[in-house]
Amino acid sequence: MTHVFLVGAGPGDPELLTLKAARLIASADVILHDSLVDPRILELAKGRLIDVGKRCGGRSTAQAEICRLLVEEALAGHVVVRLKGGDPMIFGRATEEMAALRDHGISFEVVPGITAALAAAAMLEVSLTQRKVARSLHFLTGHGAEDGLPAHDWVSLTKSGGTLVVYMGGRNLGGMAAHFIEAGMPADMPAIAVENASLASERWITATIATLPGFVERVGFGGPVLVMIGEALKDAESGRFFEKKLRKKLLTSGRGIFQHPV
Ligand code: SAH
Repeated sequence: MTHVFLVGAGPGDPELLTLKAARLIASADVILHDSLVDPRILELAKGRLIDVGKRCGGRSTAQAEICRLLVEEALAGHVVVRLKGGDPMIFGRATEEMAALRDHGISFEVVPGITAALAAAAMLEVSLTQRKVARSLHFLTGHGAEDGLPAHDWVSLTKSGGTLVVYMGGRNLGGMAAHFIEAGMPADMPAIAVENASLASERWITATIATLPGFVERVGFGGPVLVMIGEALKDAESGRFFEKKLRKKLLTSGRGIFQHPV
């Protein structure tokens, strides 16, 4: 019998949960959840909620402790949902958790969720792949194991000409942009930072790889931020949010349109 479910909670909007995720959340005895998971999703739960969230800079539960808790709850005979933001298999430390479960002979199932990049693309009304413009899509992290920028192959990424989506990309954005430009990326390559995609509080900045870091620093986003880079993003500027009256504003509150002239 499956005791543990690694479940994707999607990008935030409860409507973007899968039916399976909603059913499992409502029926589990215990839900171990990330802090990124929206409160409206947690309201579906009838079982015990345990917050094992990790936010940059904030208090967090060590990964080993999360694994220990998962195993302990499962061995106690509980049906456990491990609820992660977006999709569990994308920058979600699922490998460690699955290994811990396997080590203890605990069966589990993975339930995919909508990853943040897809919510951001929908919001921006931009296709991440485009004929002749963006033939590949790359998900990367902007945050290394030692708190710095990971040692990506900046030249290969730049040469790929694909759409680059950077998770956890807010903090080291300046360094990353410098690497890309040094690797040959044109300074006017479209780049967008998206905060809280799919939530009412979503905001974004459209800029270029050269100008985005400065804007992001000035705004000081508080929520999760995704950075998207590539030719495919140029369409975002001709979309519904490139409105004159908003163009001048550096920041609008609420469901925001935030466009800075390049
Ligand atoms: N497993 C998650 C990613 C976890 S890593 C997924 O598939 O989406 C956490 C990072 O995800 C954040 O730093 C941010 O870059 C991104 N992220 C998650 N939710 C987001 C959202 N609603 N809007 C923008 N970025 C988001």
